Amino acid sequence: MTNISEVFASMVFDDRVMRQVLPKAVYESLKKTRLEAKSLDSDVADVVATAMKDWAIGKGATHFTHWFQPMTGITAEKHDSFISFDKNGQVLTEFSGKELIKGEPDASSFPSGGLRATFEARGYTAWDPTSYAFIKDNTLCIPTAFCSYTGQILDKKTPLLRSMDALSDEAVRTLRLFGKEVKRVNATIGAEQEYFLIDKADYQKRLDLKVTGRTVLGAPASKGQEMEDHYFGSIKPRVKAFMEDLDEELWKLGVSAKTEHNEVAPCQHEMAPIFDNANRATDANQLAMEMMKKVAERHGFACLLHEKPFDGINGSGKHNNWALSTDRGENLLDPGSTPKDNAQFLLFLTAIIKAVDDYQDLLRISVASAGNDHRLGANEAPPAIVSIFVGEDLDEVISSIIDEKESGRKAKGASILDIGTGVLPKLAKDTTDRNRTSPFAFTGNKFEFRMPGSSFNIACTNVMLNTAVADSLAVFCDELEKASDFNSALKVLVKRELAAHRRILFNGNGYSKEWEEEAARRGLSNYKTTPDAVVHYADEKNVALFARHHVYTREEVVSRMEIGLDEYQKIIHIEANAMLEMLKRQIIPACIRYSDSLAQGVSTKVSLGLEARGEKELVRKITALVDSLLEEVDKLDLLNQKELDDVYASARFCANSIVGQMAACRRISDTLETMVDKTCWPVPTYSDILFY
Ligand code: ADP
Ligand code: MG
Repeated sequence: MTNISEVFASMVFDDRVMRQVLPKAVYESLKKTRLEAKSLDSDVADVVATAMKDWAIGKGATHFTHWFQPMTGITAEKHDSFISFDKNGQVLTEFSGKELIKGEPDASSFPSGGLRATFEARGYTAWDPTSYAFIKDNTLCIPTAFCSYTGQILDKKTPLLRSMDALSDEAVRTLRLFGKEVKRVNATIGAEQEYFLIDKADYQKRLDLKVTGRTVLGAPASKGQEMEDHYFGSIKPRVKAFMEDLDEELWKLGVSAKTEHNEVAPCQHEMAPIFDNANRATDANQLAMEMMKKVAERHGFACLLHEKPFDGINGSGKHNNWALSTDRGENLLDPGSTPKDNAQFLLFLTAIIKAVDDYQDLLRISVASAGNDHRLGANEAPPAIVSIFVGEDLDEVISSIIDEKESGRKAKGASILDIGTGVLPKLAKDTTDRNRTSPFAFTGNKFEFRMPGSSFNIACTNVMLNTAVADSLAVFCDELEKASDFNSALKVLVKRELAAHRRILFNGNGYSKEWEEEAARRGLSNYKTTPDAVVHYADEKNVALFARHHVYTREEVVSRMEIGLDEYQKIIHIEANAMLEMLKRQIIPACIRYSDSLAQGVSTKVSLGLEARGEKELVRKITALVDSLLEEVDKLDLLNQKELDDVYASARFCANSIVGQMAACRRISDTLETMVDKTCWPVPTYSDILFY
C-alpha cells in the first residue's frame, strides 16, 4: 500500500520544501509573490534557483526545462542539463537565477497565428512563480509563460494569469462594498477528466486511432451502453492497476487525484482531482492528461482523450467546476446563512449570470474543436447553446426578486427575498445537482461548466469565464460605489440585472428539440460547428472586453481565432486522409476479396446444379455497396484536395462539405462491415475494442 502522505508532492518544489531550503527572507518574499501574484525580486531568483537545483539533484534530476503551454493545447518542454565546466575543466552543476526566470526556446514551429514570423523565431519563456516546479522523468520542470520577442503572448498560461488578476481586482473591489478587506480572490477549478482505455494492440492496428485519436469508421458493437452497467460498475483488475499507478504518479507530482471511476460508455473512465486555484488546476490537468497516456502504455493500454473516439456511444468531456475563493478561504459562491452574506452571494451570482449571457459566444468558442463538434448537441453532451441551470430553489429566489411578489409555489417555502435583510432558503444539494443536461449548472457552491472537451487545455475556458465575470463586477462596482444608500442601490441593481439576463436561465431538458426552438426565440446563440463559433472571437464587443481587462490585444484575439480555424481545418483534412487510406487500401480491398471468394463459391455451386440464391444475393449486395463506396470515396478525395485561399474559407468548406462526405463514406463502409466475414475484416471492430 502506498503511504499517500509520504508520496504526495514528493517531486514538487512546494511551500513545504521552500520553507525548509530557502533563507527565511527569501522564502517570505517568494510566498508574497505567490499569494498576491506580485512580481518577483530579481535578487531572490538566484537564491531560489540554487536551492531548487540542489533539491532537484538530490531527487535524481539531471536536466531542467521550462515547461510551457503553447497554442497547440499540449505542453512543451526543451531539456537542458545542469552540467557546465569550471575554468579548470571540472564538471559543475549549475543553474542560475537567469536560467530559472527566463528561457529562449526556438519557437518557430509553434502556432502563433501570424503574430511572429518564422524568421523571427525567438520566443521567451518566463517563470511563473505562482505554480510549483516539479520533477518528471529526471527533469526539473519549471512552469513558465511563453511570449514572442515583441511581448505578444503565444501561450495559454499568460492570458489565464491575466484573467485571474482582472477577476481578483474586481472581486476584491466588490467585497470592499460589503466591508471586507481581502488581498486576493482566486478562481478555483476542479477539472473532472474523462478518458477511454483500450488495448494497445487494437489501437496499433487502426490508422485512424493512431493519427486522429478517434475511429473514423466502425459499425456499432452488438452491445453499447444501453444497459448502463458500466457506470460506477466494478473496475476490471487491469484497469484498477492502471488507476492505482496513475494515482501514485499524479500524487508524486502534487496532483490531488481524488476519485477514479468508470463512466457511462464501455471502456470509459473518469478522474477528478481536488480543486485548486485556476492556474495550478490547469497545470495539474495538463500533467494528468500526459500521465494518463504514459501510464497507459506501461499497462498495455492506449489512453484516448479524444472527445468522440467511438460513434454511437458517449464521448468524453471535461467538467470545469468553477468557484471564487478569497485569500481567507471564503468561497464566494457559498450562499451563506446571514442576510449580508446572502446579499453578497446574490451579487456575485448576478454577475455570473450577466457574464454568461453577455459572453455566451466566448464560452462556446472556448470549447469549439473538430472533436467537440461530435459531442456538443449529441445526446450525451450539453447542446451547443449556452444556458445556466440554478436549481429549483434558487430559481424561486430569482423569480421572487424579479417579480417582487410571492411566487406561485409558496408551499415550497419560497417567499419574497428582501436582499440584505432576508435570508435565503437553505439550498438542498439534490435540487441543484439534478440537471445533467445543462451546460452550466450551479451545484451548491460552485458552477460546473460541462461543455469543454476531454482533450482541451482548460485555460481558454477559464480565461473567458474569469474575464467576463470580472467585467460584470466592474460594471456593478462602478454603479454601487457611487450610491449613497448601498442597500437600496444593490436591490435595484440585482433586480434589474436578473431581469435583463433571465433568458440565459433554463432548468428544463437541454437535450430536447423544444429547447433549441425556445432558445432561438430567446435570442440565445446556437453555433453548431467550430467555424460557426470561432469567427465571432474577434467581434468588436469581445475585443473590447479583453482590451478593457488587459487580457488580450486585438492582434492576440485575431491570432487566436485564426489558430482555432486553422487547427480545425487541419484536423478535418487529417481525418479525411486517414479515412481515405483505410478505405482505399484496407476496407475496399477486403470487401472485394470477400465478394470474389463468395462469387467463386457461387459459380462452383451453380455448376453443381445448386441454386445458391441467398449467396448470389449477398454477392450482389456487397458488389453494389462497394461500387457506391468507390464513388463516394472519389468524391471525398476531390473535396479533400481542394485548395482554398484562407483559413476562414477552408474551415467553412471542411464543416460544410468534407464532414458530410466523410459521413456518406462511413455509412456504406459500416454497412459492409456488418455483412463481410469477420475474419476478413482488416481492422479491429468496435466489439473487439470495447469488449476486450
Ligand atoms: P460531482 O460533480 O461528481 O458531484 P463533486 O461535487 O465532488 O463531484 O466535485 C467535482 C469536482 O468539483 C471536484 O474536482 C471538486 O474538487 C471540485 N470542486 C469542489 N468544490 C469546488 C470549488 N469550490 N471550486 C472549484 N471546484 C470545486
Ligand atoms: Mg461533476
